[in-house]
Formats: sequence, structure tokens, C-alpha cells
Amino acid sequence: MMFKLACLALVLFVSAVTGPAALLTVIAAVGFVVSKLPDQLERLRAHHKTWFRSLQVLAALTVFSFVCLGVGYARFAVGGFEGRANDKVAFAPYGEGYESYSWFLGGLLGRQYARRDVRDVVSAAFAERAKDDRVHVLAEVGLRSAGDGSRRSEPSMWGHFSHKSGVAVDIHLPILDGDEPETLPSNLLTAWGYLWRFDASGDSDALAVDLRGKGCKHKPKLGVAVPADLGYSIDFDELARLLAAIHDEAKKSKTARLKRVILWPPFRRALKKSDAWKELFAKGSGRSIRFTSSCAWFLHDEHIHLDFSV
Ligand SMILES: [Zn+2]
Repeated sequence: MMFKLACLALVLFVSAVTGPAALLTVIAAVGFVVSKLPDQLERLRAHHKTWFRSLQVLAALTVFSFVCLGVGYARFAVGGFEGRANDKVAFAPYGEGYESYSWFLGGLLGRQYARRDVRDVVSAAFAERAKDDRVHVLAEVGLRSAGDGSRRSEPSMWGHFSHKSGVAVDIHLPILDGDEPETLPSNLLTAWGYLWRFDASGDSDALAVDLRGKGCKHKPKLGVAVPADLGYSIDFDELARLLAAIHDEAKKSKTARLKRVILWPPFRRALKKSDAWKELFAKGSGRSIRFTSSCAWFLHDEHIHLDFSV
């Protein structure tokens, strides 16, 4: 025992001095763990069947997750950085200032394709917001088979009326957890963020499949709404800054223009009262955003829907 400890102390000392030795130490440690692993697993399987099964499920899920992530990056890499404006290219699962709502939906199912010019505008806007350390959640975008801007003959994307032409992008709304910037939790339990419901003042309220009710109010489908006031609130200042960045980047694009934005009416009013909006969209700023004047069938109280024209 003492001999082993002395060896370990020596290795740690050497590794502290030289980089390659540190690397060797890590390789030796990993080798040691792996060499002992089959015995441990055998013991676990024999004596703790439930634990072993749980471990198997966990391992399978982990492998599956990383396959989804890998496919997501492969989709992104195939698109490359150069090409025609109307190529359909995928967003990477992570980028400067954003993260994907789902490795599975975005990566494996490939639901985050857009026209190249649209992707580049939105990516540049996210990168702009990263300068203030903000991270946004990119949600549903489009399929690789999406058409080229005209909506008529396009294949539909399940769960949407639009998102058929590679010119529509959903982004989850920026939130604050207390005073701290946070990203909207997006996972299976929240239907990748789309189940979040906020009240008219922008506070988290419930989880529900929500449709337009009377006077554009919440109307949970089947009346099912799970209370979920977790202290989140919509960050309207950050939303204004993001929209300004998207507006500015779209203005630089030769082919893509921001046509309209869908947002729940109470949030449009709250957004326009925010300090950042008043500053960034003031008269003479050259910025303006066209919002849909009505209320969409799905309330858009947890994401904005951007439509570009090309
Ligand atoms: Zn949308």
C-alpha cells in the first residue's frame, strides 16, 4: 500500500512539473479504471440487477444523445460556409450566442435548416448578443427539403402552419431567473420549450399546450395546465436588443429581409415599453420591426417567430 502511495505521489509530482507526464498520468488513470470496469460491472449485474438495468438505460441514452449531437454537427459541416444564398443549411447545435432547443430534433431529425442567407443573418445576430454574454435558444426552423421562399408548393413541417420555406425561424424568448439571465428550459418535459406559458406581465405561469382563446387570451387545449411559476420572467430589454441585432444583420444581407415577427400582443406592448426598445428603435434610429397585428392560433408567449422575405 505504502509503495503504491509513494508511486502515486511521485507521478503527481512529476506531472505537476511536465505536461507530457500529466498526460501520461491521465492515460494511466483511465487505463486503470477501464481495466477494473468489467469486474465491477459483473459484480453489479450479479448483485444489483435494478441498478445494472438503470445503468444500461443511462448508457444507451448517453450514446443516443451523443449520436444526435454528432449528426447535428455533421449536418452543419455538410452545409459549409460558402455557397448560394438559397442553399438549405443547418444551424450547428451550439454557436456563438445560441444553443439548440434539442440535440434530437435539431440534430437527428434535422428540423433546424434554413436558407443560407437567413441562417447567416440569425447566426450573426446571436453572435452580436454574445458580446454581452447572452445566450439564446434557437427552436424550430425548417427541413432540408424546404422550398426556396415561395410557400405554395412546399412540404409541410409537422406541428406548424409555416416553416416550410427555410425563411421562418423560432427563437425562445430570453428570460430572467430573478435578476439573472437564463435560457428557457427546453427538454422533453416542456415539449422542448413550447409548453411554457407566461402571464400577460411576462411571469412564468404554467406548462400547457396553449391555443388562442377569446380576446387572444390563454386557452389551454383540453383545459390541462400544470402550474409552473418557477420565478422566470421575460427579459423584454434583451428581446429588444436581439430584435435590433436581427434587424441590423438583415439590413446588411443582400438577399434576406426581415419581413415580420409574431409575438403575443401583450408582449408586443411590454416590449415597446422597455428601455432598450425606446433607445434602439427610437425615431431616427432607422430601425423598425413589423409585427403581425393579430393573434396567431398558437399564442407565441414563449417564442418569437421570424419570417424573412427573399
Ligand atoms: Zn414559428
